[in-house]
Amino acid sequence: MRIGGSPALEWGHTAQPRNRAPWARHVVLFTSGKGGVGKSTVAVNVANALAQRGLRVGLLDADVHGPSVPRMLQLGGERVRWNDAGRMEPAENFGLRVMSVGLTTPEQDTPLAWRSAVATSALVQMLDDVEWGELDVLAVDLPPGTGDVQLTLAQELPVAAAVVVTTPQAVATDDVRRALRMLLDIGVPVAGVVENMSGFVAPDTGARYHPFGAGGGKALAREYGVPFLGEIPLDPAIGEAADRGTPIAAVGDAGQRELFSELARRVHAALQAGAARAAGGSADASTPRPTGRPTAGVNG
Ligand code: ADP
Repeated sequence: MRIGGSPALEWGHTAQPRNRAPWARHVVLFTSGKGGVGKSTVAVNVANALAQRGLRVGLLDADVHGPSVPRMLQLGGERVRWNDAGRMEPAENFGLRVMSVGLTTPEQDTPLAWRSAVATSALVQMLDDVEWGELDVLAVDLPPGTGDVQLTLAQELPVAAAVVVTTPQAVATDDVRRALRMLLDIGVPVAGVVENMSGFVAPDTGARYHPFGAGGGKALAREYGVPFLGEIPLDPAIGEAADRGTPIAAVGDAGQRELFSELARRVHAALQAGAARAAGGSADASTPRPTGRPTAGVNG
């Protein structure tokens, strides 16, 4: 049933969300059109870089069917603990409080063959029944695509910003456009697009190659009238660090750390600008929100 015209509220709309996370000042979603583009890698590293800015950051792994956050933070062997009040305690590492269904299963590879109603109720539980404590940022690593989990979270949380992760190849597909359009249609403020695996720097010569094309993320951001947040190269050290459970934003060389520190700075700035707009007290208040309609003439 459609309530009161566009946008369709049965989809959920962040203009009138329930707020299941009153303990978090800002909720940031990390999303992508497709799996395997590095969404979780970006979420973990940007969350870590936000924590390095002195913010209290929680990371909710909402990728319920393929939770990879615990492994990326060396928490693969941890299992959920309950406090005396019967609430779950988030696991902690690298300055992040973390909750994931991966922490609730008997084994790391226990299959999560859940119907979407079960997946969404597990998520609600990870908001309601976890002792997150006060947070400046709750970062949410969403599953790829435009399904029930995305809509439920937009309905249950006042989302302050979404970061859309893509690769140069994925820009050529419709999936990332669908993900962007869904966010804009349901009223989620898009902090911007990150192009991951964007070019490869040869370690011996320093030459930069673009085997999958260049500039797609930027063009996509222009097309949808949302900011472009930056490019992350295809760097074996980023993948190896994730596999070891030590985020590159924490343990990488100066250049690797700076990449994520700059992304975190931009996300933080988007959160502050959004908060100022909401308070009605900033010059930003006059900045028009992205429309989500492709802009004529920038797609060619
Ligand atoms: P998603 O969450 O989109 O499914 P992941 O974050 O799990 O993707 O990343 C998929 C794989 O690619 C992982 O093995 C990860 O370590 C690797 N990876 C992600 N980003 C990069 C990068 N910039 N350079 C090299 N490997 C990367």
